[in-house]
Amino acid sequence: MCIVFTCGEHTFRKQVEGYEGLVCRCYNCGNYAASVVRSHPWFTFCFIPVLPLSIKGYEDVSCRICGFEQPLSHRPDVQAMRGGAAASGAVPGQAMPMHPPPMGPPQGWGYGGPPPKPDQMRYG
Ligand SMILES: [Zn+2]
Repeated sequence: MCIVFTCGEHTFRKQVEGYEGLVCRCYNCGNYAASVVRSHPWFTFCFIPVLPLSIKGYEDVSCRICGFEQPLSHRPDVQAMRGGAAASGAVPGQAMPMHPPPMGPPQGWGYGGPPPKPDQMRYG
């Protein structure tokens, strides 16, 4: 009796929110056939996924023609297409009006009262 345990890796793929239906250009074959997918590799035991190898997964630009995959982080042009290129709501930092620091009482002006008298040493 010989039982063979098969370990392996299986990658789940699903669409990435914001990139659904988005088709971009493949840098490998040049066709507009690449889409953004999130890959979740899992360690499999007897073909059963038991352990995720990545917590957040990877976002790749995958071409369905040539199978070329490229990390989404390397495709800023694709990231710019997210949300239909309407995500230009980035508000530039508002310039803070320059307020002078609050003026304290002028230093070295007048006396706060008579100077404390030193203890008079009496001799005798
Ligand atoms: Zn391709």
